[in-house]
Amino acid sequence: MSDTDTETDAHTPSLRTPIVAVLGHVDHGKTSLLDKVRGSAVIEGEAGAITQHIGATAVPLEVISEIAGDLVEPDDFDLPGLLFIDTPGHHSFTTLRSRGGALADIAILVVDVNDGFQPQTREALEILQRSETPFIVAANKVDTVPGWNANEDTPIQSTYDQQSERVQGAVDTALYEIIGQLSEAGFSADLYWRVQNFQRNVGVVPVSAMTGEGVPDLLAVMMGLSQRYMKAEMEIDVAGPGVGTVLEVKEEKGFGTTIDTVLYDGTIRADDRLVVGGTNDPIVTDVRALLQPRPLAEIRTESRFERVDEVSAASGIKIAAPDLGDAMAGAPVRVVRDRPVEDVIAEVRAELADIAVDTADEGVVVKADTLGSLEAMADALADAEVPIVRAEVGDVAPRDVSVASTADDANERVILGFNVDVLDDAERRAEIDDVRLFTDDVIYQLIEGYERFVEERERAQQ
Ligand code: GDP
Repeated sequence: MSDTDTETDAHTPSLRTPIVAVLGHVDHGKTSLLDKVRGSAVIEGEAGAITQHIGATAVPLEVISEIAGDLVEPDDFDLPGLLFIDTPGHHSFTTLRSRGGALADIAILVVDVNDGFQPQTREALEILQRSETPFIVAANKVDTVPGWNANEDTPIQSTYDQQSERVQGAVDTALYEIIGQLSEAGFSADLYWRVQNFQRNVGVVPVSAMTGEGVPDLLAVMMGLSQRYMKAEMEIDVAGPGVGTVLEVKEEKGFGTTIDTVLYDGTIRADDRLVVGGTNDPIVTDVRALLQPRPLAEIRTESRFERVDEVSAASGIKIAAPDLGDAMAGAPVRVVRDRPVEDVIAEVRAELADIAVDTADEGVVVKADTLGSLEAMADALADAEVPIVRAEVGDVAPRDVSVASTADDANERVILGFNVDVLDDAERRAEIDDVRLFTDDVIYQLIEGYERFVEERERAQQ
């Protein structure tokens, strides 16, 4: 089944699938939850009913309704299903952008009931808050509460009601801890069955990505939230020029540099001209191939990918085209079709300018894996009153070291890299030039590491 099965009249507004991102601290169960949703969809659905995209999985309404049973009556909905961004963690949440068209429409924040809020949970919350993305909390691993009696066939509220008083007490303690922490962060939250308005209040759904308990409830809450409050945002012009966001920039054998893209409006065709946000100027290029994953059985000696002629929102697609070397994760992708290319370049430029980081004449060098994470780093550094001289997406390269090495103040002969690698040459160069490199995959730890360094230096000077 392809994305283009549904024939649509030209320029008739259609409702697209809401895009869902899964975020949370490492090991709290993001991957397991995505696997469970996919697994249940495969079991419940007709073969091929769910579509594996690049970087995303589409679960149609009928399949959601099979999984969720009475909780989702298909007749109550006209949204076509949910599209889950597959790469959990930093890649999905840091490409959520605060301005200029967000990538995800809804998010699931996964919190381990045993572990509660952790650094990446807080970081994810801040990003959700800034991007005003509605979200639901999956209080995961509820099966690990001692004495928990699993019942995969009832809604999680009934399963919870069936537990002994002691177990309920233990679950309550864990859940109210999470609800309390959400409230400290400025969100009014409650157990999902007590929430009336999911736009105003954050619903907390106890789940187990292992047993699958609570997954039907989670899907039902997301469908309800989207249908009730977000339908207007799902109206798109399917036949119009495609608009999307780069998820990842990847070398692909036989295709050169490709961009994994989530398309959230319109259509991309195999003969389209595109404008893509790059580290320097917007890139103007022509699609060489639109690629989707081939079913496993067909791969053998063939390429892992199958060429398609056209793809419509919302879906994930790999785009092969010349000159994509400078494309940035988190940057916009726009189809030119039937309008002046200058207009589209201007649109992409405006969108990039909106997420650009203000730099000063002096300060530290910042590198990050996506535009969204760069923006999050810049915000955190502004809060810590650390000026930035240069901020870019990409690994730490020798030219970053050159820039950092020009600083007079040793506190600014520094590169902070979030979720990026340091190229070998850059490491050698930094040693020679006496430039300090800090890297981490948690923003606040990265900044703390830097602040410790500054404090120690200042203490040593006294
Ligand atoms: P991620 O880093 O957030 O993607 O976390 P993973 O999905 O990799 O899960 C981390 C670990 O927790 C793995 O060993 C999983 O098997 C385990 N895990 C995840 N969800 C559950 C759950 O609901 N119950 C139990 N008992 N273990 C879980």
